[in-house]
Amino acid sequence: MRLLVVEDDPDLNRQLTTALSDAGYVVDRAFDGEEGHYLGETEPYDAVILDIGLPKMDGISVLEAWRREGRSMPVLMLTARDRWSDKVQGFDAGADDYVAKPFHLEEVLARVRALLRRSTGHANSEFACGPVRLDTRTGRVTVDGNPVRLTSHEYRLLSYLMHHAGRVVSRTELVEHLYDQDFDRDSNTIEVFVGRIRRKLGVDIIQTVRGLGYLLSTPGG
Ligand code: CA
Repeated sequence: MRLLVVEDDPDLNRQLTTALSDAGYVVDRAFDGEEGHYLGETEPYDAVILDIGLPKMDGISVLEAWRREGRSMPVLMLTARDRWSDKVQGFDAGADDYVAKPFHLEEVLARVRALLRRSTGHANSEFACGPVRLDTRTGRVTVDGNPVRLTSHEYRLLSYLMHHAGRVVSRTELVEHLYDQDFDRDSNTIEVFVGRIRRKLGVDIIQTVRGLGYLLSTPGG
């Protein structure tokens, strides 16, 4: 899952980016409204954390512009504690949730998990596919109850496929959602990682759909 953090306070931006990266997300960052707007317009993010008070272009205008342009990714806005009008304006502009400053990073992480879950049509934070379970709260993966150790990259790939189980996900889509903007993207590496995940899980829940991509489905089903 690939996220964008738009926050002009350098310390807060770093704290958010670090916490989200540690939680297994790929994170791009922007420090003003114009840069944030540009990235959100051109890159396919799974969710955005957007500060409302931003230089160059305020958060509400950024959000309105994205929605006007048809960008529908979930947006969590960061608001000042006592500015209720920001929240109203933000929701009306197309925000999906908010956190008031100052906040606990744990709350941001929980809200991001909920946004990603809802935007992909899941009600539960634990995902299951056949004998494989992935808990987005703990980052744990098990097969028939036995823990499986995945690298952070393997986890991100499996997590993305599990969020989108039941539909074919192309290699290009995976590359776009698993790497940040600075990464030298090569879709062949996806195949290597899928191979490793298959070996570690020991069950083949990831089907290759020739010429199209990958489909997560229950073994035998
Ligand atoms: Ca700010």
